[in-house]
Amino acid sequence: MPNPDTPACECRWFERAVADDSIPVVFDELMNEYHLLHHNGRGHLLFYHCPFCGGRAPKSLRATYWTEVSMEESVRLHALTKDIRTPEEVFSTFGPPDQDFEFGSGCTTPGSQEEAPETTLGPRRVVYKSLSETADVHVLIDRYDRLKFSFRRRYIGPKRSNQADPGTQQSAGA
Ligand SMILES: [Zn+2]
Repeated sequence: MPNPDTPACECRWFERAVADDSIPVVFDELMNEYHLLHHNGRGHLLFYHCPFCGGRAPKSLRATYWTEVSMEESVRLHALTKDIRTPEEVFSTFGPPDQDFEFGSGCTTPGSQEEAPETTLGPRRVVYKSLSETADVHVLIDRYDRLKFSFRRRYIGPKRSNQADPGTQQSAGA
């Protein structure tokens, strides 16, 4: 996490790094963040401090773009869902979901001389948006009809071409 006692970076390393094509640092204008890109092009790390002078990076706006889910709200949603055991109970209690991803992305084993490649599909995921002012309620349903609830913050910021998902975002030093 950023150290609030550290003075802000004034050496302008970030600006120089963004301008330098040999350094994989980019600026996210929307979030007001500097990111280090991974060489494989997937994922990126967020800078909290300047690697050159150790000063604080600019203040990120990320938190303002997502709802805050209070502890009380998490407790309330937990109580609301804790006795629901089957997919049928989910649908009879909450009605049709706002989103229904029948099966998640598949995963195929490479196979070997003894075993043919095998494809396993990810769990079904249904999403309810109206159960809470601040959280989306996600329900994962595996192929044995076991349930897993999670309560996720909701994006309320400006539209983005590649909407960041806080669940997959990696943060340096978090
Ligand atoms: Zn600096």
